[in-house]
Amino acid sequence: MAESCIFCRILDREIPAKVVYEDDRVVALEDLNPQAPFHLLIVPRKHIRTTLDLSTADNELIGHIFQVAGKLAHDLGFAEDGFRVVNNCNEGGGQSVWHLHFHLLGGRDLSWPPG
Ligand code: AMP
Ligand code: ZN
Repeated sequence: MAESCIFCRILDREIPAKVVYEDDRVVALEDLNPQAPFHLLIVPRKHIRTTLDLSTADNELIGHIFQVAGKLAHDLGFAEDGFRVVNNCNEGGGQSVWHLHFHLLGGRDLSWPPG
């Protein structure tokens, strides 16, 4: 784990968070600053800094994350209406926490393109 990484600290239960799902590979928690009625963060337990740091060894993990996103959207009741899975990479892409994560947004109409 990276000592100063806020998501590693959440995963280690050093910092409280509203965890809605977890398994051996990922944790899903409510975003502190929600941008939609449903705004979850799906965070791998493995500390990966950005999308650019992924390796082929992570391919199965990324597939799993998308499966979890679909399952959560379904279980929370917004799958049929539609939802968005977002990864922000690097500062220009809007990344502010340097531990790979995917935003799952739903519960309202989502405009395109995003800002
Ligand atoms: P990004 O800007 O794509 O790196 O996304 C980081 C997200 O983490 C933002 O939407 C923040 O609101 C969220 N966030 C930051 N700190 C926490 C925290 N302690 N608990 C839950 N969400 C957080
Ligand atoms: Zn981390």
